[in-house]
Amino acid sequence: MSPFISASTLRSNRLAISVGLLLCVLCRAAPTADFASWDAALRAMFPGMHHLGEVTEDPRSTTVFGEDEILGYALFTADVLSIPAYSGRPINALVGFDTHGVLKGVRVVAHEEPILAVGISEEQLADYVAQYVGLPITDDIRIGGDPAPGRQVIDGLSGATITTMVVNRSLVEGARKVALARGLLSIDGTQRTFEPPLPLWMTSWQERIGRIAVLVVGLVLLLCILLFQDWLARHPTFLLRVRTLYLLFTLFFVGAYGYAQLSIVNVFTFIGSLLGGFRWESFLLDPMMFLLWGFVTVTILLWGRGVYCGWLCPFGALQELLYRAGQRLGIRGRELPTVVHERLLALKYVVLIGLFGLFLQSLVLAERYAEVEPFKTVFALHFAREWPFVVYALVLLVLGLFIRKAFCRYLCPLGAALTFPSRFRIFDWLRRRKECGRPCQTCARECEVQAIRPTGEIVDTECHYCLDCQVTYWNDQRCPPLVERRKKAEVKARLSQPRQL
Ligand code: SF4
Ligand code: SF4
Repeated sequence: MSPFISASTLRSNRLAISVGLLLCVLCRAAPTADFASWDAALRAMFPGMHHLGEVTEDPRSTTVFGEDEILGYALFTADVLSIPAYSGRPINALVGFDTHGVLKGVRVVAHEEPILAVGISEEQLADYVAQYVGLPITDDIRIGGDPAPGRQVIDGLSGATITTMVVNRSLVEGARKVALARGLLSIDGTQRTFEPPLPLWMTSWQERIGRIAVLVVGLVLLLCILLFQDWLARHPTFLLRVRTLYLLFTLFFVGAYGYAQLSIVNVFTFIGSLLGGFRWESFLLDPMMFLLWGFVTVTILLWGRGVYCGWLCPFGALQELLYRAGQRLGIRGRELPTVVHERLLALKYVVLIGLFGLFLQSLVLAERYAEVEPFKTVFALHFAREWPFVVYALVLLVLGLFIRKAFCRYLCPLGAALTFPSRFRIFDWLRRRKECGRPCQTCARECEVQAIRPTGEIVDTECHYCLDCQVTYWNDQRCPPLVERRKKAEVKARLSQPRQL
């Protein structure tokens, strides 16, 4: 037998090892929290604490004792309720409440949330959870809104809406479950029970019904634009207005208001959930993100990644609008030489592969380095964060004034990831002529993201679906084959007219 392993065997072994490693990493069990390790935090919640009782199951919790009385109870939320958050994994918080069902303290002990990993400081998080101290778990504790009898209102964390919703629901419901199991909740001697609340994702959809409706209308409108793209391309002034309005909608409604900016972190979360126990709930929590991902999944197979990158990505829209404003102010856009452009295109794949490698190590690590996407700085935190992040985002935006969508073309890991499904696109909707590239270079010169090869083909993975080339395609003043055809027709018409003597 040959001592050498064939290349194909080696490749399949490597594949098997990689898949194995991936599964090991992704299917790793969440570490079990131990009350004894959080002794100091529990003493801060219960200053008179003497010792902890036995840990009881169903639901898992412990009793906090003083010298000779029970001070309250403690639980880890992930042991009692496993609600997946933005990262697809639960947020684990240590919760203490007294024998009257009043919260004594909350401490987030483990999470994989991008916004908490980088963006929200420890102090902000501590201030947020401090609001729970003194609130009765029997009340309806809400983030934002108006107070009412039996309802407590606390402030959320800017840019972390979903995360705080999950923390809120997990700790209140978790504490209630423990209190009910221990027979604590009683009013006037009568044990109080609860109607189980709606699943968190349903509550989230109910609370956001208005913005869901607006987004759906926006998506239907975009579908109409795509379906009638030929007609629109023949009416360039109207198309320009429609496109500008749509980009403003994307920037202000989808990005600034709804913070529904898709991110490479969502892709990693999805892969993680596929391999580690898929749950629809984690994707339904944010209805705008869910609808956008659904729409992108379908349109990517029909039109390619350009539909998202050219129309629905808030950061893409911001760059595009700034570039256009810059042009109006006299800033001249530049194109890189083809050879430089083609080499730089690879950079975004290198970024993607690097992040994927980090993701195999840890989702939180990948989330930290996913800050290469400036989305959180711009849309979730509105530039209110540490200066290096702000400077980085501003540098990218300034660069985009000179090189159209420079970040998208050369750096964006999400854009790179979206090129893979784009390769399975079913239809070719962008029209080309046999003269495109041979010899005509008009569209290739006009495409400012340089997505048309000198040979005339559109590089689907780089096209942002701006429709500029389609406007030229139908324009008999600009498209050389059409100009020639028009001129011939004009000569023919002239010749066919009766001559006047
Ligand atoms: S490349 Fe990235 S930033 Fe640019 S439009 Fe696409 S997803 Fe948005
Ligand atoms: S000009 Fe044409 S090829 Fe270039 S990005 Fe726009 S639609 Fe795509």
